[in-house]
Amino acid sequence: MRILITGAAGFLGSHLCDRFLAEGHHVVGVDNFITGRPDNLAHLMGRRDFRFLEHDVTEYLYVEGPLDGVLHFASPASPVDYLEKPIQTLKVGSLGTHKALGLAKAKNARFLLASTSEVYGDPLVHPQPESYWGNVNPVGPRGVYDEAKRFAEAITMAYHRFHGVETRIVRIFNTYGPRMRPEDGRVVSNFIVQALRGDPISVYGDGAQTRSFTYVDDLVEGIYRLFLSDRVEPTNIGNPGEFTVRQLAERVLEMTGSASQIQTHPLPEDDPKVRKPDITAARAALGWEPRVNLEEGLSRTIPYFRQVVEETQTAARTL
Ligand code: NAD
Ligand code: UDP
Repeated sequence: MRILITGAAGFLGSHLCDRFLAEGHHVVGVDNFITGRPDNLAHLMGRRDFRFLEHDVTEYLYVEGPLDGVLHFASPASPVDYLEKPIQTLKVGSLGTHKALGLAKAKNARFLLASTSEVYGDPLVHPQPESYWGNVNPVGPRGVYDEAKRFAEAITMAYHRFHGVETRIVRIFNTYGPRMRPEDGRVVSNFIVQALRGDPISVYGDGAQTRSFTYVDDLVEGIYRLFLSDRVEPTNIGNPGEFTVRQLAERVLEMTGSASQIQTHPLPEDDPKVRKPDITAARAALGWEPRVNLEEGLSRTIPYFRQVVEETQTAARTL
C-alpha cells in the first residue's frame, strides 16, 4: 500500500511511519513542523519507500500518484502547545481534516482520524466507553482542541455516510514514549525530564486527578489493526491501568533514582479529574489489548530522555 501520514514529524506520526514501512508499505509523510521535528524522520530520509512533503495541511493538499490510506495525525496535542496555538489547533482539526478527507476521497483511499479521549472532556461516566457523548466546555481554554476533534469526528462520519469514504476513528488516550519533545509540557515528559535534571517535579493541583498511560508501541499496534479492520465506529485505544498524577510522580522519582522534590502548582482550568478507557470494543473487534505496563513503558522511555538531557547539557557547556 501507499500511505500518507499527516503530522509525520511528530511523536506518534513518526512511529506510524516506521510501522507502515516495516510492514513493507510506501509512506508519504506531511508536516509543517509546528510542533514536530525533522529529527524524528532523519533516519527515513533518502529511503526509496519514503517521501516527505513540508506542507500545512489546512491548505489544499496535492499529492501525485495513488494512495491507499490517509492517516490524519497533524495537530498540536499537548495542552501547553494547543493553548499557545489555539487558532492553528482549531484550523488543523477542522480545515485540515476537511483537506485530508478530500484527498482520501479523490484517491479512493481509506481514511483514519487521530481523535482523542479529550472528546469525553471532564467525564461524568467512568471508565469511558465509546458510547459516552462527553462533558466538554466549548468556551474554556481546552475547547479549541476538544471541539476541533469533535468536529473532526463529525466531518469524518459525514464523508463516510454522504461520500462513502472508508473511515476509521481512533480515540487515543495519553500516550508516551521516545521522540516526545522534552519541553512539550505533557506530564510524562515533564516529570522524567525534571527528575533527570534534579529540578522540582511540577504536580498540578493536589495530584489526585487520574490518567491512563499508554506506551507508544501498544498504541501503534492498535492503530495498525484498526486501520486494517472494517470498524467504522470510533474506537478507544488506551491502557486501562489508571494512576493518579502523584502516583506517576512517585514512580518516576523511584525509577530515575532522583532526589527531586514534588512541588505543587495551581490546577489548569477544566483539567479532567479522571480518565480511563473502556477497551471492550478494541478487544472484541481488533483482538487488541495493551502489553506494556507503566513500569515497563517508563523503563523504555527514561533512557531516551536521559540521552536528550545529556545532549542538551553538553551543548550548553560547549556554548
Ligand atoms: P505532536 O505534536 O508530536 O505531533 C503533531 C504533528 O502535527 C507535529 O509534527 C506538527 O508539526 C504537525 N502539525 C500540526 N499542525 C499541522 C499542520 N497544519 N500541517 C501539517 N502538520 C501539522 O503530537 P502527537 O502526540 O504525535 O499527536 C499526534 C496526533 O495524535 C494529534 O492529532 C493528537 O491530537 C493525537 N493524540 C495524541 C495523543 C497523545 O497522547 N500523544 C492523545 C490523543 C490524541
Ligand atoms: N500535569 C501535572 N504536571 C505537569 C504536567 C501535567 O501535574 O507538569 C497534570 C495535568 O494537570 C493533568 C495530567 O497531568 O491532570 C495530564 O496532563 P497532560 O498535559 O499530560 O495531558 P492531558 O491529559 O491533561 O491532556
